[in-house]
Amino acid sequence: MRFQIVLKVGETPITLSDEVSSMEEVFEKTSALAEVLPEQCQNCESVKLKPNHRLTKSKAGKPCHYYEVTCKSCGWALALGQRQDGSGLYPKEWGPPYSKGEAAPASNASPDGW
Ligand SMILES: [Zn+2]
Repeated sequence: MRFQIVLKVGETPITLSDEVSSMEEVFEKTSALAEVLPEQCQNCESVKLKPNHRLTKSKAGKPCHYYEVTCKSCGWALALGQRQDGSGLYPKEWGPPYSKGEAAPASNASPDGW
């Protein structure tokens, strides 16, 4: 059967739909995600969050995927780690904007034109 569910990252809705064989599977898939999604920014408590994915290259030239939840208000991000067994993501820690090289913008600024 097909299911669709809306999860929220802060105030940003994420629609998730997938094919599952049981209701248990719906819980397995959504609880793993709900566990890593923060409700607000740890730095400024804003709920203007968005999921973010960056693809970069390691020093050896291998593609590296970065997953994070970014705060649109202050630019801080919650880094998400990838589980070794490939079963999903787990929350790591909040940190200031990556590679901006400057202090975080004022809390009402909108970095990168979001
Ligand atoms: Zn913030």
